[in-house]
Amino acid sequence: MEASALFITLHSRIQNTVSNGPGQRYAIWVQGCTLACEGCFNADTHSLKGARFPIDELADDIIATPTIEGVTISGGEPFQQMPALAHLVAAIRKRSSLSILIFTGFTREELLCISGADEVLSQIDVLIAGRFRQDLRVARGLVGSANKVIHFLSNRYTPGDLDSVPQSEIIIASDGTVTVTGINPLELRS
Ligand code: SF4
Repeated sequence: MEASALFITLHSRIQNTVSNGPGQRYAIWVQGCTLACEGCFNADTHSLKGARFPIDELADDIIATPTIEGVTISGGEPFQQMPALAHLVAAIRKRSSLSILIFTGFTREELLCISGADEVLSQIDVLIAGRFRQDLRVARGLVGSANKVIHFLSNRYTPGDLDSVPQSEIIIASDGTVTVTGINPLELRS
């Protein structure tokens, strides 16, 4: 494995969330995206500069997290960090039975032009694909805008499983940190 695949540039992570995919999940948001969707809900993730995190250490933490049934990888744009994404997905798949769901701004057809993406797709359960379109915003069932396409790449989940995911969630950590997340996160007012 080449050296660049040993680290992934992360924006943030949550060890247990119920609003970023079916069931309790570990969610990560990678740092860096050049796709520039108008009205992007996560503009802080666009810069390509961020904290580089050892992938094996991240995989260890994911696999050691109790009660989760899967991992959600979002961003930023996960497929703009190949081969780091491939390394992470392979480590999770090899060492656990956790489900894997990925959000991407690319269409599936575009991904087939990215070296290594087909191998990633062969190892995950759900891909939610396509640019965010502000004029088509729906923000439910894990779909940000109506043009997004959900690809079920295994038989692990059904459309009903995704429809039942809460649209928003407020997580209060033991240190008092408040995180608001989900496909339609609530706005906190002071
Ligand atoms: S692909 Fe995602 S992170 Fe990138 S600009 Fe579009 S909505 Fe934002």
